[in-house]
Amino acid sequence: MLENVAEVASTCTLCGACIEVCPFFKATNNPKYGAMAKVEAAISLFEGKDLKEEDLKTLYLCTRCDGCHSSCPMEIPISVVVQAARGELRKRNMVPEKYKTIAEAIIKMGSPMAAAPEKRIACIPEGFKPPEKAKYLYVPGCWSGIKLPETAKATMEILIKAGIDFTTLGEREWCCGLFLIDTGMIDEAKKLAEKNTVLFESTGARTVVTECPSCYDVFKNVYPALFRKPEYEVVHISELLDQLIREGKVSLDASKSKRIIYKDPCPLARRGGILQPPRNVVKSVGELIEYKEGGKDAVCCGAPAGVKPLYPDIANRLAEMLMGEAKEKGAEVCVGCVFCMYHMGGLPKEAGFPPLKTLSQLVLESLNK
Ligand code: SF4
Ligand code: SF4
Repeated sequence: MLENVAEVASTCTLCGACIEVCPFFKATNNPKYGAMAKVEAAISLFEGKDLKEEDLKTLYLCTRCDGCHSSCPMEIPISVVVQAARGELRKRNMVPEKYKTIAEAIIKMGSPMAAAPEKRIACIPEGFKPPEKAKYLYVPGCWSGIKLPETAKATMEILIKAGIDFTTLGEREWCCGLFLIDTGMIDEAKKLAEKNTVLFESTGARTVVTECPSCYDVFKNVYPALFRKPEYEVVHISELLDQLIREGKVSLDASKSKRIIYKDPCPLARRGGILQPPRNVVKSVGELIEYKEGGKDAVCCGAPAGVKPLYPDIANRLAEMLMGEAKEKGAEVCVGCVFCMYHMGGLPKEAGFPPLKTLSQLVLESLNK
């Protein structure tokens, strides 16, 4: 987090270049929910002024997707400004009740959904006993490990078939704390950074592989700033799958090739710069279709950072826009991050949108037996 965030925010010239790139402008056509309004609201807050209801709403209508950063001529890191503003709102005891519940679930129970720790075991393939020590540590994350266990199971089945020396934490796994980071709860996030870093190192793994693009960003880029540099490197599953396919450790049958649209996950594309590995994986099993705004310009799905629980209608509108484009382009499958999948997969079935899958599910379906 920037020390002088209020000062940096105050350099905003209100040029408006960041308004239309924000997914919440795209979903509502209302400039009050674009990025500039968030910066204006934050500046008022930092100056000690009282905020109107609409200012609070715009500050909470931000997934911190970084879609606005490259648009700002003053190079204001808008998502960092929003994060600091939310931290300030917390100090003023102006945090939405739903936020308090989610934060408490993460801190006390280890997941935003307050799941019992043993729920994390369902994703471990039958017969696989995770060793205490291994070269790789696979971290499914809360959404894959708890809510969509078949997605984490698909990854582990591929790793087993490819002969990878890996382990996973099962019921000892704990949330990465992204929600705490996004909502400005930095002291609490620091504690999680220490807890998780030490836990990961205890497995002796030299590489931590994440299913979730947000876990990837948090472990790789945020934890070293909050705690210290870890003894392992962090890779996203798309990078490992791409490597395993190139090395011939995973052999695929692309004869049942499908039209696959790839939705870049914001943290992976914009913060991680990981654009090609997932595309290579898709192309090895089917025909890749691109969104009109893809790669670093990908439009956020609208759910993270507490937006979906607070404003489900607006979050769902973005999901409908993305799934609508996938359908229009004739995609037979939409591939995206596991959290996007959970969010976008919740749209009504009657709309006839293509099914959502993770890269691992696609690869597992195409494995040469
Ligand atoms: S980080 Fe994303 S959601 Fe937040 S203001 Fe920027 S574009 Fe909008
Ligand atoms: S692009 Fe930068 S300077 Fe222009 S309104 Fe947005 S934050 Fe302010």
